[in-house]
Amino acid sequence: MTNKTYTNPATIALHSGWRKDETTNSVTVPIHMTSSYQFDDTDHAANLFALGELGNIYSRIMNPTNAVFEDRIAALEGGVAALGLASGQAASAYAIQNLCTRGDNIVASSQLYGGTYNQFKNPFSDMGIEVRFVDPKDPQNFANATDDKTRAYYGEVLPNPSFQVFPLREVADIGRPLGIPLIVDNTAAPLICRPFDHGVAVIIHSATKYIGGHGTSIGGVIVDGGNFDWEAFPDRQPKLNTPDPNYDGVVWTEAVKPLGPIAYILKARTTLLRDMGAAMSPFNAFMFIQGLETLHLRMKEHSKNGQLVAEYLENHPLVETVAYPGISSGINKERAEKYLSGGCGGLQGFEIKGGLEAGKKFINNLEMLYHVANIGDSRSLAIHPASTTHSQLNDEELSSAGVSAGYIRLSIGIEHIDDIIADIDQALAKAE
Ligand SMILES: *Cc1c(COP(=O)(O)O)cnc(C)c1O
Repeated sequence: MTNKTYTNPATIALHSGWRKDETTNSVTVPIHMTSSYQFDDTDHAANLFALGELGNIYSRIMNPTNAVFEDRIAALEGGVAALGLASGQAASAYAIQNLCTRGDNIVASSQLYGGTYNQFKNPFSDMGIEVRFVDPKDPQNFANATDDKTRAYYGEVLPNPSFQVFPLREVADIGRPLGIPLIVDNTAAPLICRPFDHGVAVIIHSATKYIGGHGTSIGGVIVDGGNFDWEAFPDRQPKLNTPDPNYDGVVWTEAVKPLGPIAYILKARTTLLRDMGAAMSPFNAFMFIQGLETLHLRMKEHSKNGQLVAEYLENHPLVETVAYPGISSGINKERAEKYLSGGCGGLQGFEIKGGLEAGKKFINNLEMLYHVANIGDSRSLAIHPASTTHSQLNDEELSSAGVSAGYIRLSIGIEHIDDIIADIDQALAKAE
């Protein structure tokens, strides 16, 4: 391990949290395929279990390969610690379950990834955790839906399919004096948005998307900003401020204090991950470490190509509307300028004239762009949400999520721009 810390993302991605293997001098991070770790002696074991020191016990809860990934993503986001998980779905679930029990609620943006929306609406309701969905266009909607049992606010930085940037600072500022943290999903905008700079307390990612970048692995991560004063709000945040029967009666904010401002993330690791078990494979952590190394370069290319495709579509006679922060106007433009820097990423949507049938023809005539339920891959991807990712939603839910019958979502990759536009152009010509 190296003690040197860096602030530039390009350097963090290659050097943070790892210098070389102490026994073999290996420069790249080894894949530690081990389930368990030998304790030095019984005192050492007891101390690890009592959180007297942090160390390896069992790979469901921690692993040295995963630890390097976690260290790097925490450093890239400017947070204090991170928790790698089996999927983005596990990350959103644990991020909320870490604060809520039955009878509690959260207020969430209605503009969410379809999988997150389903998770919040049904499994959470089965657990007795209510999710109150509000339109994020007016931040005041979060305040209006809040009561004494509201434990968190939740939003997506750049939600697909609407691609309207979430009002981060506005909503964070409503919650902070009440003891309510803003948790955001930054899957669509890694590095180009830095949510902790705008008052956000916790970030989650689906690492499956841009972080991996190569479309090889499913994974998720929660990053703790270390910037939220949980202890100041004992009534609002009982899970962190009252004795936890699930961990020998510890009060997390007190017990963890000597280790740094990591009560939230350490609780998630040592209770939710331990008990529910959605662990990230060390092999996948290795893949995500490879992905992080080039993330800053890829985001620049995705953003450059994304902007050019949006401008091309905007001027195409068969295209009704284009949703992309880089060509937005009004409040959406203001928010894009305030919260994104260095580009707007590769995700966008457009509405094709001719609705459902034209949409299907466009998709079926693509030759290079893949037709897949994924985003953030280095390859360009396209999908028709109304018939796939959002097919479980009824008409009203569809329209509040910003999806219509002719809506096509694109995840623009890092191929040469001429080839991307040529493929879209020929598929549009055949959709008439
Ligand atoms: C894909 C995705 C998720 C879920 O992540 P998985 O890794 O597929 O479980 C959550 N949020 C957003 C914005 C996503 O795109």
